[in-house]
Amino acid sequence: MPQIAIFSNEQLSKTELGNQLRALRLHSLHESSNFAVSVLLEFKVKDRYVYIGGVNVENDENNRLSLHAEQNAIAAARALLGSDAIFTRVFPMGGPKEVGPGKDPRANVFIDLCGHCRQILLPFAAENNKRHMVTINGAISDGKSIQELLPNAFSDKGLKDEKYPHPLPMTLFNSKSKAPFSPLYFFTRDVQPNLDHNDIHSLLQTLLPKLIDPQWETSKIRTCILKINSRYVPGVLMQDAAFLPTTALHAALGFGITSMGLAKLNVQEVHLYGLPNAKLEDNELGAIRRFAQNDVPIHFYTSHGLARSYNLTVYKQEQDKAWLEKYAPMYSVLLSNSKI
Ligand SMILES: [Zn+2]
Repeated sequence: MPQIAIFSNEQLSKTELGNQLRALRLHSLHESSNFAVSVLLEFKVKDRYVYIGGVNVENDENNRLSLHAEQNAIAAARALLGSDAIFTRVFPMGGPKEVGPGKDPRANVFIDLCGHCRQILLPFAAENNKRHMVTINGAISDGKSIQELLPNAFSDKGLKDEKYPHPLPMTLFNSKSKAPFSPLYFFTRDVQPNLDHNDIHSLLQTLLPKLIDPQWETSKIRTCILKINSRYVPGVLMQDAAFLPTTALHAALGFGITSMGLAKLNVQEVHLYGLPNAKLEDNELGAIRRFAQNDVPIHFYTSHGLARSYNLTVYKQEQDKAWLEKYAPMYSVLLSNSKI
């Protein structure tokens, strides 16, 4: 079973990179494209190398909500490493799902980062970063930097995001949090203890979202912890200068699918941290329902602690009722004026 994070005192060898990427590809959810992609991002944290993986997670109901492997990997890295999530190298591998290593000529094809992923990776690229494509048979291309792949980029730096106030003080999300464990330590350990609401609240606050500006807010949910197959997995809201956001919930699901694959995937608990009026969108509820075998509990937390709890079906009913109360009068006017 591939691990979402690998720790090493030395850089992984070509063989190790190929093996890990091929193992990760088996976890890809490629229902629209039938193209299985995996990626590894390399980070230097203190004097160790950390490799964090991702796979594509497609959504055949709405492709706009699919995760690319690189997007999935950088969201996982941000959740695990916080502000240390600055990658030095990125290794993509991909091909039709049925292609494994061997004589098939498609196993010798390099696939590159798409434009969407170049944009998403750019704010997290170290100065001397390199992208090396890896074929399914394990050949590795020469390196190019993300900046070379995306010249004249529109970036966070152009927006000078530091000058904008954050809707939640960023001090809520820092390493001085009273969380019992660091995210990197906790979410990558083989055996995790059960957490109570206080532990989860602390961990949710320790996770570091990537925010740009409240004026362009894409979600009031900033961080997420899912319990999947008895393991806790994290996700953070990822905003991008070019409006390519990833919600904390989709990031956590992507983390779970990368690390556990799809076989018997069962979402058991949903924990969400954000503003008091945070809510889940329909597409997020659909994603939970798709991977949950039961009527899962959904817990909302704010900086003060646990604020609201529901079961999925009750939450969906309340959301639908609120939507009808807000919009039904408007629709009834539109309908009564219509000539149809
Ligand atoms: Zn992509």
